[in-house]
Amino acid sequence: MLWVGRLGHRLYEECGHHKLPAVQHVTAVFCSASVLVSRCLVTTAFSTSSVPLSAVTAPPPITVSFEFFPPRTEKMHEQLWAAIERLAPLGPAFMSVTYGAGGSTRERTHDTVVRIQNEKHIQAAAHLTCVGATRAEIDAVARRYWEAGIRHVVALRGDPPEGEAVYRPHPNGYAFASDLVAGLKRVADFEISVAGYPDVHPEALSAAADLDNLKRKIDAGASRVITNLFMDTDVFRRYRDRAAAAGVKVPIVPGLMPVTNFANISKFAQKNGVSVPRWLGELFVGLDEDPETRKLIAATVAAQQVQTLVKDGVSLFHFYTMNRADLTFAICHLLGLRANGHTPAAPGQG
Ligand SMILES: Cc1cc2nc3c(=O)[nH]c(=O)nc-3n(C[C@H](O)[C@H](O)[C@H](O)COP(=O)(O)OP(=O)(O)OC[C@H]3O[C@@H](n4cnc5c(N)ncnc54)[C@H](O)[C@@H]3O)c2cc1C
Repeated sequence: MLWVGRLGHRLYEECGHHKLPAVQHVTAVFCSASVLVSRCLVTTAFSTSSVPLSAVTAPPPITVSFEFFPPRTEKMHEQLWAAIERLAPLGPAFMSVTYGAGGSTRERTHDTVVRIQNEKHIQAAAHLTCVGATRAEIDAVARRYWEAGIRHVVALRGDPPEGEAVYRPHPNGYAFASDLVAGLKRVADFEISVAGYPDVHPEALSAAADLDNLKRKIDAGASRVITNLFMDTDVFRRYRDRAAAAGVKVPIVPGLMPVTNFANISKFAQKNGVSVPRWLGELFVGLDEDPETRKLIAATVAAQQVQTLVKDGVSLFHFYTMNRADLTFAICHLLGLRANGHTPAAPGQG
């Protein structure tokens, strides 16, 4: 299944050579140029949902969270912490750190989570999966988090390890995420977030079965759903409506990842059942060797996406940062968030 942690690792490796300009530069370019780019785009792909950007820069009750993956090398470590330093002043509700397939990042995830909470004084959430571990082992990981002061877990089933096509529960493990949620609640009263799939999880028998599973996770104790990456805003809206109709009452938080390397992401997306609208691909045609323009387009697409969602009443956003701050910071700025809680003037107040 596509998940951005693994995608993050892979994309980092595949796209790492596309060096990003300094954050301030990107933000400045974004703020001025994206308006121009968006004027063009709004009249084409987004014509049905456009409202002035000023509508989004009003101070809204917006809450964001940021997801990172644990670094493997010293260089990745530096990049991660530069991103955390840049994004922390925006006051996210929490920062979460992914868990490598089969617990491969257990220590790195633990260290990063605890450090975020202790040094940045921001709630940190630890991702935890069922794959390749007994219930006793997973409970021990959870207990260690609780003892370290971590109160929020993103509880996941996990994907089959590399080289295995089909997921097989560990004989003495938690079989599915709903079992893990219940197990975690037995360990301690964690706040628990779980995964949701606007495009439907590829192993689900049907969209309805997928929603039943979501409800099992909530009944077991989850209090928030964070969605998998989606590329079509309407897919998210329909999912949210279907979930509400099925009786899901906890917040469904859209998981957003600004698309900068369209070719890579769409390859992953198509392989994993995430629908890719044609217009999105067309925006990136001819830009394979032009990362600067790709980034402007990505920022504009993401700005339009959050704009549409805000208009729709969404006030919680989860960002798959890929351990990079620039685009996420810019989009949060557009959402009205300012470093250290400074509130921007409302439109019309100069
Ligand atoms: C926000 C987010 C964060 C993620 N973070 C990570 C991470 O840190 N590490 C990682 O390895 N992966 C991560 N993933 C990926 C996730 O592990 C995969 O998408 C995985 O394939 C499914 O996980 P799940 O928790 O949704 O599984 P589940 O909710 O258990 O569902 C998995 C599938 O099994 C089906 N199912 C559930 N219960 C049953 C049952 N009793 N009988 C039959 N079928 C059933 C469901 O319908 C679904 O198709 C993340 C995904 C998201 C969206």
